[in-house]
Amino acid sequence: MSGPDRNDRMSAPEDTDRGQTAIRPVVFHVDLDAFYASVEVRDNPSLRGKPVIVGAAPGRRGVVSACSYEARRFGIHSAMPISQAYRRCPQGVYLPVRMDRYLEVSRAVMDILRRYTPHLQQISVDEAFLDLTGTERLFGPPLETGRRLKEEVRAATGLSVSVGIAPNKYMAKLATNAGKPDGLVQVTEDQTESFLDGLALKDLWGIGEKTLQRLTELNITTVAGLRTIPKADLARLMGPGAAGFLGNAAHGGDPGIFSEEPHSRSLSSETTFETDRKDRLGIERTLLDLCHQVTFRMIEEGWKSKTVGLKLRFHDFTTLSVQRTLKHWVSSAEELYAVARELLGSRWNGSTPVRLIGIGFSNLVSVEAQDQMELFTDEFTRQKKVEEAVFRIRRKLGETTLTKASLMESERRRRERRASRPPNGAPAGQPDPPADGPTGEP
Ligand SMILES: [Mg+2]
Repeated sequence: MSGPDRNDRMSAPEDTDRGQTAIRPVVFHVDLDAFYASVEVRDNPSLRGKPVIVGAAPGRRGVVSACSYEARRFGIHSAMPISQAYRRCPQGVYLPVRMDRYLEVSRAVMDILRRYTPHLQQISVDEAFLDLTGTERLFGPPLETGRRLKEEVRAATGLSVSVGIAPNKYMAKLATNAGKPDGLVQVTEDQTESFLDGLALKDLWGIGEKTLQRLTELNITTVAGLRTIPKADLARLMGPGAAGFLGNAAHGGDPGIFSEEPHSRSLSSETTFETDRKDRLGIERTLLDLCHQVTFRMIEEGWKSKTVGLKLRFHDFTTLSVQRTLKHWVSSAEELYAVARELLGSRWNGSTPVRLIGIGFSNLVSVEAQDQMELFTDEFTRQKKVEEAVFRIRRKLGETTLTKASLMESERRRRERRASRPPNGAPAGQPDPPADGPTGEP
């Protein structure tokens, strides 16, 4: 699902011709609970009920990538330095990140979700939006659909998901968060304001620490309070970027955090931190995860690219993007990460709080199945395959084509020789230049 049409559909109700039954937008947000840790427990049931921490090894530099709810009781959360987590919970089970495995499970879950709608927007390895507008007759009431979807994911993968249902993506995300873990929360249009008023300002997903601080200084401490501030005043007090975000969020609108890529020939993954961050390790860890996700999607969807783009949004909503085009196709997440880190280093001073980070490919080119296999092979094998392919093409085209080509070539040379012949008719005396060998990429 892409393009402005879909976004419109997700935010504005549509009336049928007769105007009797309005089709209201129904957006599901689906989020796997404590995903990495849950996969580890599923693969090793003896870990059930234990504080499981996935991330860097204790005693090394690095952060917590994910942890089980049992670990959260010790005050551990993702992005916390691993040393701090270890101090809080030395008896925890510390495991390394197995991204390949998580991606495999993620794919199985997304396949289930896709049975409900082709209009699926995967926003991270464990989260997706589903546009289920107008599917009520097919699937029943949204809450019932949500229940069934949760059961199906659990039966197939043993994992629990939280589901939020609302008229737009942002509200659906808030509904999911309100029900976590194993939640199922629907917020209808009529319930939007009362639902929001039950949240703390910090629960407005994506609100930064600085923004919260500023609001507190202005004596704005509740969502209801925020809603009473006129748009123009909010813009004057907070700056236009933050004001737009806050105004939308407080009114149950969609601030557009999860808007889709406008161009079909690019692919990206991004994360908005729940609180602004400036710890390099944590930011780089997130960047690495994003690199894995976006590379995985690119290969899955049959694309290749040489152009890498990094997007950064800082605490004050200033946003910048930087691109680099490589000489070769990017073939692995590690390679992408190496470029991404350099781009980050070129645009971030290491101290400005970061609100959002994203990485993506643009100028995507479709790959043939043949090429796709080659993405995974080493240079030697690749070269061998290229030679084989050239050989096959030669055989397939047969002598005729090749002969035709070489005839045309010698005909061209004959004409050139004739043209360069001196007026006295003597031969130019120049031997034919060697024909160009095969060039370019396979
Ligand atoms: Mg999750």
